[in-house]
Amino acid sequence: EDITVISMVRRKALRSFLAHYTSDFDLCLSIMEEVDRFTMASETASFNAYLHIQKEKISGINHALENRYSELLLTQEQLQESETLNKQSQALTHIGNWMWHITEGNITWSDEMYRIYGLEPQSESITFERFISFIHPRDRDKRMSEIEESLKTHVAKDYMLRIINPDGTEKILKGKGDVVLDQNNNPEKLVGTCQDITIEYNLNRELTEKVKQFEKLSASLAVKNDELNQINKELESFNYVASHDLQEPLRKIQTFISRINDKSKPELLSSGTLDYFNKILISSQRMQLLIEDLLTFSHTTSHQTAFSITNLNEVVNEVKNILAAGIEEKYAVIECPVLPNILAVPFQMQQLLVNLISNSIKYARADVAPHIVISCKLLKGKALSTFPAIASKQYIELKLSDNGIGFDEEHKDKIFGLFQRLHNKDKYSGTGIGLAICKKIVNNHKGFINAEGHPGKGSTFTVYIPMEKEKKSLKDVSVN
Ligand code: ADP
Repeated sequence: EDITVISMVRRKALRSFLAHYTSDFDLCLSIMEEVDRFTMASETASFNAYLHIQKEKISGINHALENRYSELLLTQEQLQESETLNKQSQALTHIGNWMWHITEGNITWSDEMYRIYGLEPQSESITFERFISFIHPRDRDKRMSEIEESLKTHVAKDYMLRIINPDGTEKILKGKGDVVLDQNNNPEKLVGTCQDITIEYNLNRELTEKVKQFEKLSASLAVKNDELNQINKELESFNYVASHDLQEPLRKIQTFISRINDKSKPELLSSGTLDYFNKILISSQRMQLLIEDLLTFSHTTSHQTAFSITNLNEVVNEVKNILAAGIEEKYAVIECPVLPNILAVPFQMQQLLVNLISNSIKYARADVAPHIVISCKLLKGKALSTFPAIASKQYIELKLSDNGIGFDEEHKDKIFGLFQRLHNKDKYSGTGIGLAICKKIVNNHKGFINAEGHPGKGSTFTVYIPMEKEKKSLKDVSVN
């Protein structure tokens, strides 16, 4: 607008001053032509400048439009992406969304909601009545009154309901909802999320059932265990009392036989009678040994708690003293490194070593002096693959190897049972109780014992005892 007005004003101004400048007609005409040329040139320049400015403006707008367009494309892409992800996560977790447009009466379901209800996604439009028809008849009233309550209070509570799919499958759903209000504060929509928890619910029910069964079973096991413990205690005391009381008549038999031997003149007795008396004496001595061993066995209770720091070197020395006669008689050699202190029942450790070392002396090869080698090392429970050891716990391994008659490997477990004897009973004295006592002692220490035998070459007995509590004593351990 300015461009055209300015040119016109200029022309008018020049023309009005022309009369004052000259009255020569030709000059006036040429000046007028010059003014027209000037006006045209300046108008052209102005229009060009204007056009240039407009072009720049348009290209700026275009540019901004392009930017906006690509932004929109990007947002649309992101929206599509998040919708795909949403659909995937709904399908994966069996979670669906729903929206009930209260006034219109229809319900919008996400694809997964259709699947949960056993329908093809978006295969039909859902009315409120249609939705109600899916609900299990027993849950229908409850769900209806929950919905009414939400509309009244404007608060939708979490809910659970059973539905029946068109193919008759029953499903359990868990859901959450919200009430959307209109401008007048009236409920306009009810929106929510709902999950199919049928599998989890059934699993949980099964699990609860199993837990209940398990609890019942453990309760009855605990009762049985108490009963067993009681019976065990009774048996132990019976064993003890019986063995104890048996000693009395036995002592009497032995006393009277020795009196007969002392008082009667042997020449008056026939050799047969003397032989019988001798046999009675030997049998009664054997019975006494048996009773003593049984007493020791029943004494060795597996609930012994008199644990204290035990110096194993002192125990070995004491054992050597106890077995001195046998050691001397058979020229036995016992090699033993410096042993550590351990937390144990000292008397039981002594009993254990007495039984093992005396066996090595007893079951020596004829004409070969017993050579017993004791070794000791520490190891972690995880290294004891053959025993139910506690992986993280430290154990002391005591190994006693001898060069005796050995035994067949197939009996390596059996020999720890009561009255189990592998070798000739006439040649080797014994009751078959010693190793059973060893096993009991080791059990009482929560340890393990193991035997290896090589017939004609020797045997090795290995004892593992956990190094509990008294970790300080480990500094003394010499590891072979
Ligand atoms: P016993 O009183 O018969 O020695 P144990 O319970 O101490 O009873 O041992 C059970 C059996 O294991 C023995 O009878 C013997 O056959 C075998 N045995 C035990 N220790 C050894 C050993 N060091 N060498 C060979 N055999 C052994």
